[in-house]
Amino acid sequence: MEQLKIKILDLSYDALKDLIMSWGQKAYRTDQLINWIFKKSASTYEEMSDLPEAFRQKLADETVLFTLSPVEERVSSDEQTRKILFKLDDGKTIESTLMFYEQNESRRERRTVCISTQVGCPVGCYFCATGQQGFERNLRPAEIIEQVLYFIRFIKNHVPTADRELSRKAITNVVFMGMGEPLANYENVRQAIIILNSRKGLELGARQITLSTAGLVPQIKRLAAEPLHLELAISLHAANDKLRDRLMPINQKYPLVQLIPACQEYFEKTGRRITFEYALFTGVNDSPEDARELAALLKGLNCAVNIIVGNPTACQEYRSSTLEQAMFFQKQLFSGGIFNTIRISKGTDIEAGCGQLRSRFLPGSSSRDTAN
Ligand code: SAH
Ligand code: SF4
Repeated sequence: MEQLKIKILDLSYDALKDLIMSWGQKAYRTDQLINWIFKKSASTYEEMSDLPEAFRQKLADETVLFTLSPVEERVSSDEQTRKILFKLDDGKTIESTLMFYEQNESRRERRTVCISTQVGCPVGCYFCATGQQGFERNLRPAEIIEQVLYFIRFIKNHVPTADRELSRKAITNVVFMGMGEPLANYENVRQAIIILNSRKGLELGARQITLSTAGLVPQIKRLAAEPLHLELAISLHAANDKLRDRLMPINQKYPLVQLIPACQEYFEKTGRRITFEYALFTGVNDSPEDARELAALLKGLNCAVNIIVGNPTACQEYRSSTLEQAMFFQKQLFSGGIFNTIRISKGTDIEAGCGQLRSRFLPGSSSRDTAN
């Protein structure tokens, strides 16, 4: 029954206003309602004290506010990473992660939520735990937005801060780097982003939202033409087609000769520097020749490379390179003129890598699938 009700967070502002007015309520009730959801982080209709009781009752009868229920929580030993396994209203599960990055000389404190966009993933990269679980379904806008709101409520209730801006917003960044390929669920992801970004929603700046894709070329071009201007990350992981075909089957459909110009187009239309993610796998893509090839491929593009180490893979064939290997690779890239940083995967002690906690809970899985 609940499953059939309208999910309030699936609705755009205009659709919500139309619904509310169709009940004979005044239009301004829409702003009051979204203020409770996005600014005051309400978790029930009941607590929305300035809404008339009859209106609250109508909302409860006709709609649902939240549909995700947390079924498992893991906190890393340094308490900087918190991963939740959520059950959806059809019983399927997804994961989301909250990561704290402390303030340092160059940066303010960051609180980043990493969210999922699909149950499983149709792209099937060989090194990825999610990709190896297969694809079940797309997430709806409400299910995408709720992951962020869940952690905002958690922070407001449990993590006090003296920083006024932080205490108002609770989180600073959202990254679409959880389970699934966001651009394979384009419409729902787009709608969720509009709500996250909008003044009638969460008001997160476009610079605070990063979408990561395995490289769906038509959708990258479509995104470039949108007024959203998000930060875009491309999961590259290889600098030639032969190797990339081996790691990511999507490369056979959209090879580098199409992908790199699409990235150039994204930069030209949005002014956003592209980030290329490059997970280092020992003996696979971490040689000096690989670094030279990568530098040559990206030459002239306004971009940065994020070298990823320390994430256990779904498959024995791809083991993460060591930090020493990563630092050597980094030097080679710098000498090829490519700006880059090393990212050490956070929360590997709680299976915070993409799809790893969930694979532990799927039937027939063993801990060997997830961590090593
Ligand atoms: N589907 C999107 C976003 C989700 S994956 C994408 O692929 O970009 C988020 C990031 O985690 C991607 O860069 C992905 O390549 C990377 N990733 C997945 N499994 C990994 C692993 N075992 N080791 C390192 N990075 C991994
Ligand atoms: Fe899907 Fe991204 Fe995993 Fe590839 S890396 S299988 S695109 S989630």
